[in-house]
Amino acid sequence: MGQAKRTTKIYFNFAERNQGGANTGKREYLYLTKNILNEARAFYIDFFLAHSSKLEEKVTYYSEKHKKFKERKLTSNELLTWAESLTVSTEDHPTPLEGWNFSEKFPGMPVVYRRSVIKDAIGKARSHLSNYRNWEESGKKKGKPGLPGSNNHPTLYKGTIKLELEKFDRQDNFVSILVYNGRGWEWVNYPVKFSPWQEKRLTKFSWENKSPRLILREKTAELHVTQEKSVEARKVEESKKNPNLITIGIDLNVKNLAVITVRKNGVIIKTVFVTDGGLDYHRYLHMKLVSKHQWLSGKPVKGESSNKLLWGHVRRMNDYYAHMVSRRIVEVCLEIRRIYPGAEIVILFERLRKIKPKGSKSRILNRKQANQLKGKIIKFTRYKAYYLGIVTVEVNPYGTSRYCSRCGHKGERFSLVKGERVKMRGGKLFYCPHCKYLVNADFNASVNTHHSFYGEFHWQPKKKAA
Ligand SMILES: [Zn+2]
Repeated sequence: MGQAKRTTKIYFNFAERNQGGANTGKREYLYLTKNILNEARAFYIDFFLAHSSKLEEKVTYYSEKHKKFKERKLTSNELLTWAESLTVSTEDHPTPLEGWNFSEKFPGMPVVYRRSVIKDAIGKARSHLSNYRNWEESGKKKGKPGLPGSNNHPTLYKGTIKLELEKFDRQDNFVSILVYNGRGWEWVNYPVKFSPWQEKRLTKFSWENKSPRLILREKTAELHVTQEKSVEARKVEESKKNPNLITIGIDLNVKNLAVITVRKNGVIIKTVFVTDGGLDYHRYLHMKLVSKHQWLSGKPVKGESSNKLLWGHVRRMNDYYAHMVSRRIVEVCLEIRRIYPGAEIVILFERLRKIKPKGSKSRILNRKQANQLKGKIIKFTRYKAYYLGIVTVEVNPYGTSRYCSRCGHKGERFSLVKGERVKMRGGKLFYCPHCKYLVNADFNASVNTHHSFYGEFHWQPKKKAA
């Protein structure tokens, strides 16, 4: 059993007023709310760092399981209660600790918001202290951890948002949010855009919706709803023992973005090539421009985003292709399930290597982007397949492109240049001198991921000398 996670987004409608968008005043409240929550979080981060001994304080308790007294640190709920008793004025404690009067600084802040920033602050302060301790123990001069930042996307817990999904229709949808208007707190309705597709995702019974996060950008605002679901998935080592296990091996490359091979009972039963449709060359041209800009303006200045628009475009392009390829891989899984209902499937990728690209600056940049794309494809496939209870494994990449997938001997790679065989690294074709196998090199590598997974041929664990 495991937890599958996904995020569904709801977009605020910031169109013109006469087109049903939120007015600018209401829009401003969202930013004010985020800011005041950041300030409140900063207040409590300072508070906990000023009282760091409390974070380390230990209490003894009796463990029923171990039948003895044990020590533990204070829980975050205990710390929260303690912090509130010192900083918030109540009837019982009318005067908070001097210099730490939260009620005076943030009058009227709703309890739910206050508690959420306290919880955030505890986490941030604790992780800062442990980073700091590690740094001190390491004895290094460099890398002193800085103070924790206080900016977060606000999480809208129950009591700060009214999101009644069942009542949503496709025309006029609103969410009510408890926001700060610069003077006090009030409930405000915001128009949101909601497609049938999102509706389906958010109201599906099998997914549990977590509290949404408010993501504010320059011109847009979104609610991100994390959804969780328990899925049945076996451990890979157990699956490996299943003689009818179907493995889906994937070789990720540059021009052939993915070569997908499906193996059942030792036989490759399906192959799919996903090509990049010119992405690599397209991106290369952009990288050429980026390196030219950097050359013209001297060294890239840290924090300066001279090529911001271009990088944004490249990133979105990579994301698009990563989703496209991972979707295709999952579709192959679904096709296999249709043919073999109930079959157990495992997806295999090569573990990504660290790359040290050579050549021109633009080529280096482009290779790095291609490698990032591979990482994204693996990441997206992993979570998309997991919904279906399919586990993704990264296998040892050693030799997948150099050894013969038919007999396991070392082969050579070459490309055809004017009809002549020219041996080269990264050649398009693979030839095995032992069994005379001639094949597309990416296909050969894809078939080898299955061998690597099962430890066949040269991937067999080395026998110890007797
Ligand atoms: Zn061979």
